[in-house]
Parts: sequence; C-alpha cells; structure tokens
Amino acid sequence: MKVLHAPLAWLADGWQSDVRVEIDAAGAIKAVSRGAAPQPGDERIAGPLLPGMPNLHSHAFQRAMAGLAEEALNPQDSFWTWRELMYRLVGRLTPEQVQAIATHLYIEMLKGGYTSVAEFHYLHHQPGGVPYANLAEMAERIAAAAEASGIGLTLLPTFYAHGGFGGQPLADKQLRFRNDVEHYLKLIDGVDRACKRIDADWGLCFHSLRAATEAEMKAVLAACPGERPIHIHIAEQMKEVEDCRAWSNRRPVEWLYDKFEIDGRWCLIHATHVSPDEVHMMGHSEAVVGLCPTTEANLGDGIFPAQEFLAANGAFGVGSDSHVSVSALEELRWLEYGQRLSHKRRNRLSAGDRPEVADTLYSAALHGGAQAVRKHIGAIAAGRRADFVVLDGDHPMLANVAPAKLLGRWLFGGNDSWVKDVMVGGKWVVTDRYHAGEAAAHDAFSAAMSALMAA
Ligand SMILES: [Zn+2]
Repeated sequence: MKVLHAPLAWLADGWQSDVRVEIDAAGAIKAVSRGAAPQPGDERIAGPLLPGMPNLHSHAFQRAMAGLAEEALNPQDSFWTWRELMYRLVGRLTPEQVQAIATHLYIEMLKGGYTSVAEFHYLHHQPGGVPYANLAEMAERIAAAAEASGIGLTLLPTFYAHGGFGGQPLADKQLRFRNDVEHYLKLIDGVDRACKRIDADWGLCFHSLRAATEAEMKAVLAACPGERPIHIHIAEQMKEVEDCRAWSNRRPVEWLYDKFEIDGRWCLIHATHVSPDEVHMMGHSEAVVGLCPTTEANLGDGIFPAQEFLAANGAFGVGSDSHVSVSALEELRWLEYGQRLSHKRRNRLSAGDRPEVADTLYSAALHGGAQAVRKHIGAIAAGRRADFVVLDGDHPMLANVAPAKLLGRWLFGGNDSWVKDVMVGGKWVVTDRYHAGEAAAHDAFSAAMSALMAA
C-alpha cells in the first residue's frame, strides 16, 4: 500500500485541497480523502495532481515521419497525398524499427501528459504482405514498447481487407495490413497472449468502412462477443463521405448506425464530416467520438462540430493519431481553438455548471478516453487505476494562480515542460521530467531513423 498526499488534486468535482490517495499493491486507487492532513509515511506530492489523460488513438510508427511531410509540392496536397508518403515509410519498416519508434514515442507520451494509449495497430505483415512466422509479431513489438515505457496499453489489432467501399481489392502498398476474418481471429489469439504477458488489454478494430465490408464486420463481432471496445475511423475526409454516398446512398456515420447497434463499446475516430442528424445520432448514443485535432489540422481534414456535439450530450476523448504532436494539452487546446476559429467567438466548449473551458475539456476527455477503452482509468477515485500527472508546483506561472484557473493556465498558457512527474498503475514512470528508459530508447530510435533515412 502506498499513500500520496497532494496539496491540490483534481477530483470529479474539481480541485480539492489536502487530498490523500491510497493505492493498493495492484496499482488501483483504494480510497481518496479530502481536507486530510498528511500522515507519517505519506509520499508528499509537490504540485497539483491530475488524472493522467488517456490517448485514445495512436498509429505509433507514424511518429517516424512527423514533421517530414510539410513541403508544398502539390497544390492539391491533402490527406491522400500525405498517405502516399506514409505508405513509402510503411513499405520499409522492420519489427525492430517499429518497436524502437513506439518505445520512444510512448516515453514522449508520458512526458506529454498521457498515461495510457489505445494503439490502432494495422501494420501486421512483412513487406509484400507475407505474414511473419508469428502472426502477432508486430503486435508483440507494440506490447514490448508499452512494457518498456510503462504506459498503459489497449492494443487494437485492426481489420483491414479492402481498398475502397464495397469490398474493393487492396493496392499492393496496403498488403502489409491485410487479414481476412479467419486470419484476423488468429491474430487476435496472438494479441491476447501478448497483452496478458504485460497486463494490457485489447479491443476490436475496423480500419474504416473502406477497408471492411458489412459481412466481415458482422462476422468479427459475432466471433468476439463481450464488452471489449470497438474502434473505427469514420468520416475523416469529404472524399470518403462522397464515395460512401456514391456506393450506399448514405453518409458513413448514417450507414454505420443503420447497420449496427452502436453502443458504449464503440469509439468513432474523427467523425469530422457529419450532418446535424448524425451529430444528434452520435450524441444520443453511448458511443465516444475520438478527436485528434492536431492531426486533423495537419492533414487538412476539417473541423468537427464539437460545440454542437457537446450540446447534444456527446462524449469525446482525444488522441495523437499521426503524432505531429505528442501533447495532451495541445490536443485539448486545438480542439477549443478549432471551434473558436470556425465560430469566430471565444470560449466555446464549456458544459454544465463549470464556465472554465479547460475544466470541461479536461474532464470530458478523461471521461471519454476512459470509456473508449472501457477501463477504470481517467479519475482520482476509488477503484480507478492510479494514473497521475503532477504539474510543477514551483513553476512561476502556476504560483499565485487561484485553483479554479490552474487548468486554464496550463492548457492555454503553458506547455508539456510543466509536467514534472507521471505515475501509471501506482508506479512512477517519470520523475522530475526523467524516464529511466529514455537514454536506451533514444539510441534505438536514432538507429532506426538512421536506417530509414538511408533506405
Ligand atoms: Zn488514425
């Protein structure tokens, strides 16, 4: 049993003073008391204590190309031209490189305020599409990266069988992603073993409506009943909406809700291009929408109608997706800024009786992020995993700021360097901005990048 004493901690009803948090040997919070004096043996926390943010959407390998595709060569540059560059990288990656990139990335995530990650994992096979001797080779590399970094992992092995709506064949450059239903279910057996080894969880995942047919999705869901999360990319691009309408006479989100029972297991990634009816449908279902504002901005996807969605009682979390940013605060900041830019007004995303925008952003993304992986995370409360971020209590920008203003100060006026310590499952993984594995991770990442750049 470990007990923390924090002068300030973010509980369900906002900042509270003198909070004692009891953590059991398994890394779960056993009890939380407020207004409590520190007791002998308590570990004293020096700064504001927050629940760590769940990152609900990651493609780890894409970190290798972040910032390297920012060159204006094509007046029609878009997601689709970026995807060609991404496929060039995909064609070369080895399992060792994927592990090195993911380990380095996950340490960056911890320092950026994320304490768990949902890895939307679709790079399964060798170049050309031949499976590795172990079908779950790449999944095991992701699990090894999570283990080395200490971040909480939900592995989402991705079903990817087609290159367009209506079961079109894959292009050659997509063959590393391909599984039919039978092989996907075999892959899941390997993923299950890899996750059990490191005490991680897994969920189901369909790359998109372009990549899976209705019959395949229904076969996978029938073979894997239960409460596991189900993630899918949807309506990220206008072209995707247009292609879906040409194929089915429906918009993607409309089609999905028509064909499937969309309950609390579902996480709809992006859902950028949605009609008012679709906003209403999503808001009144139990599904979570996974927003990735820095990637959506980087790719020129468009702006999700977050203000309308929040008004419709919708649940959302955030993800770093392509990892042009690996910062929880930056995702939340740009989520709000996108709304300000499109509505030409300030302070758009606030809900309930909390006028502080940062409070709504942070608490909604904690709640949605936890739901997206169906885990007991995302709050400082009994029964939740002890995943925490400690801000630098000595930072001059935080000194003399009223507690009600602390989160706004950080999200809109601060940066990741204000994150001082990070705990996952009751274990400190970052202390005083240092991670014990960072030197080794740095060397392995540099070696991977050197080989990739030379190729
Ligand atoms: Zn994605």
